[in-house]
Order: sequence, then structure tokens, then C-alpha cells
Amino acid sequence: MPIDPICKKPVDENTGFKSVYKNKEYYFCSENCKKKFDELDKSVIRVRRSLKDKEKISFGKLKREIIDPGICTLCGACVASCEVLSVVGGKPTLKGPCTACGVCYNQCPRTITTESSLIGNVRDVFTAKSILPGVKGQDGGVVTSMLLYGLEEGLIDSAVVTVKSEEEPWKPAPIVAQTEEDILRSAGSIYVHSLTMETLMSAIKRGSRSIGFVGPSCNIDAVYKMQNSPYGLLHMFMRANILKLGLFCMDTFDYEGLKKFLGDKGLPISTVQEMKIRKGKFWIKAGSEHVFPLSDMDTFRSGSCMVCTDLTAERADLSFGGVGSKEGYTTVLARTGLGLELFQDAADRGYIKIEPLERQGLESVLRQAKAKKVQMYMIKKRIETVKGI
Ligand code: SF4
Ligand code: SF4
Ligand code: SF4
Repeated sequence: MPIDPICKKPVDENTGFKSVYKNKEYYFCSENCKKKFDELDKSVIRVRRSLKDKEKISFGKLKREIIDPGICTLCGACVASCEVLSVVGGKPTLKGPCTACGVCYNQCPRTITTESSLIGNVRDVFTAKSILPGVKGQDGGVVTSMLLYGLEEGLIDSAVVTVKSEEEPWKPAPIVAQTEEDILRSAGSIYVHSLTMETLMSAIKRGSRSIGFVGPSCNIDAVYKMQNSPYGLLHMFMRANILKLGLFCMDTFDYEGLKKFLGDKGLPISTVQEMKIRKGKFWIKAGSEHVFPLSDMDTFRSGSCMVCTDLTAERADLSFGGVGSKEGYTTVLARTGLGLELFQDAADRGYIKIEPLERQGLESVLRQAKAKKVQMYMIKKRIETVKGI
């Protein structure tokens, strides 16, 4: 005698309450139990309807990104949401025509699909540029202007920034900046890891108690942890107020590797005037402009960057990057109340010009953030490529 899957009572097949799910018949003791059972199908239909006008996503994408790379947890969420999916040979497998409704992809715990999982918590998004004469900086000079605002208005007593070493071209040199001149020297990006935390500690030891800290996601994470871990130096005794200004970051390179890469292209690093990473390309200006696919530089990438999934410095007070804004402007994600207040005050006091970021710009940030998050899907493959396995 069949068992009612809802109330678990044995049930007579002739009651007339029956449903078919995934080609299997289920019997119920009452209309109420049948209704509860059929609710799941109704939710799937509702979700399918809501996804109808969005991007078409087929099971192939789930297979490619999650199942084939071996990061499927076999939770069964995809299988439970579609009648043409079953687990075969220990893997979710398509057993019929896929309508590319995207439901399985969106239920999977391994796919990254929500805005907050892509860029963290954000209170407001802007596009901005400096309006201070003489401030250039990367993509609008907004970070430079925020630091100048902090210093001139007496909100910070120093800033930890990275400048180019005077001994070796394009080698990063973190400094404690206390003057306008120091801050102006830090404008522009350097794509090599910078040992900023030692400099932060030395700023505190030298008596700074309100510090603007500029760094990519991984450096911002270090400050966050020092402030919030029960064993963190900044949590326990070296108290200081730190305004975390995070930089969007896609990659950095080993310094010697970067030198070799450019040297092999006939471009000695000493001749490089500017570097940028844009849309999966490495762009440099050395007299004329040169563009290289980032994939050409895989072997010189820092190992930590290969496992890094944070594009937008999710733990910062304010995050800055070129993605999503037009040329000469910076995209700004205001994350904390303090960050938002200072950013708006800097605009009110004439340091920067700010506008709301349009949805299209935010979509670009989300797309790029996703490209970085999904690195983890392909981590096995990327490590094999680098090691030449
Ligand atoms: S039809 Fe099924 S397998 Fe195809 S995308 Fe939708 S839920 Fe996934
Ligand atoms: S939902 Fe994702 S993790 Fe769960 S079984 Fe399906 S593919 Fe695997
Ligand atoms: S890619 Fe990640 S680990 Fe590498 S420098 Fe940028 S934030 Fe740090």
C-alpha cells in the first residue's frame, strides 16, 4: 500500500488523490495533502515565470561551471527543482529537453547570483571625479582628493598610501603620507603587492590616530581583521580610527615577472609611464600605447590573486574603481555610514563632483565582480595551467 508523502499514513490508491512528479505516481489521503505536495510545483512555475525575461541560462552553464570542475556538493537543489534532472553516476544529469529557464542554476549553492554576494553590502553607488586643480590620479583622481579632503579638513592626521619606489621603476613603496605632496605622489595604480601593513603599524607607532588607509581588497581585509579579530592588534591595544579606502583589484604580478614580461616585449619597465587593467586586458603607455591579453601574463600572476574572489574591496568604508564609469570618472561604492557621510561632505566642500551611478554602470561592476568570483569555479584548471600539468 502506498504511503502519503505528506502525512506519512498508508493510503488506498483508489482515493482519487494522486499527483505525478518526475514520472512517479504519488497518492494522498486527502485533497489537503495533495495540495501541499503540489505547492512545490507551483513555486517552481512562479520562479520560472519571474526568470522568463532575464538571461537564458541552461543546465549546460551549471554543468560547465559547477559540475564539471568538481565543485558540486551533491545537495540536489537543482534536481529537486526540475523534472528533467536526475542524479546519475553521482552527478546531476540532464534526462530530457532543457528549456533554459535558469531555475537549477539559481538554486545551486555554488553559483554566485545575488548582488550582495557579488559586491558585498553597499549603501549607495556613485560616479565621481576630482574637481581640484592639478589632481589627476587613476580614473578621476577621487581617492587622491578624498585623502586631501581628510587631511585639509583635519579628519585624518596621515594616510597610508603606495608610491613608486625611487630606486626601482614601478616597484611599490608604501609610505605614511602627511603632506599634500606625498598624497599627490601616490596617484595611479601599481600592479605589484605592496607591504602596506608594516607602514600602517609604523604610522600608529609614530602617533597617528586617524588614518586614511588605501589598498586593494586583500589589504583592506587585513586591516578589517586586525580591527575585528579578538586577537587583532588594532582591536586589542593599538587603537586608531582607520578610514578604509578600497581599490577595485583584478590582479597583481610578481615584480621580477612583470619586468621580464615587458622586457621580452621590447618595453623596459623604466620606459613605462602608465599601467591599467581594463576589460581583461593589460594596458600600458610607454611612449605609445600597448595592450596585452591578461591571459598572456598568467605565469607572472601572484598566486594569491588566483584564489582571490573580491573585486570591489567588500570590507572597505568606500570602494573605488574605473569599472562602470565613463572615462575620467571613478565608480564609488559607499558601504558604511561613515564612508557615505565623508564622501558626501567632500562633495559639498568642493573636492569632488559626484553623481548617482546609473544601473548600466552598476551592471558592469556586477559582471566584472562575477568574472572574479567565478575564478574559484575554475581554480583546479588555472593551477594546472600555471604549473603546466
Ligand atoms: S529546464 Fe531544468 S535543467 Fe533546464 S535550466 Fe530549467 S531547471 Fe535547469
Ligand atoms: S544544486 Fe549545485 S551543488 Fe547542488 S547538486 Fe546541483 S549542481 Fe550540485
Ligand atoms: S587580486 Fe586580490 S589578492 Fe591580488 S592584489 Fe588584488 S585584492 Fe589582493
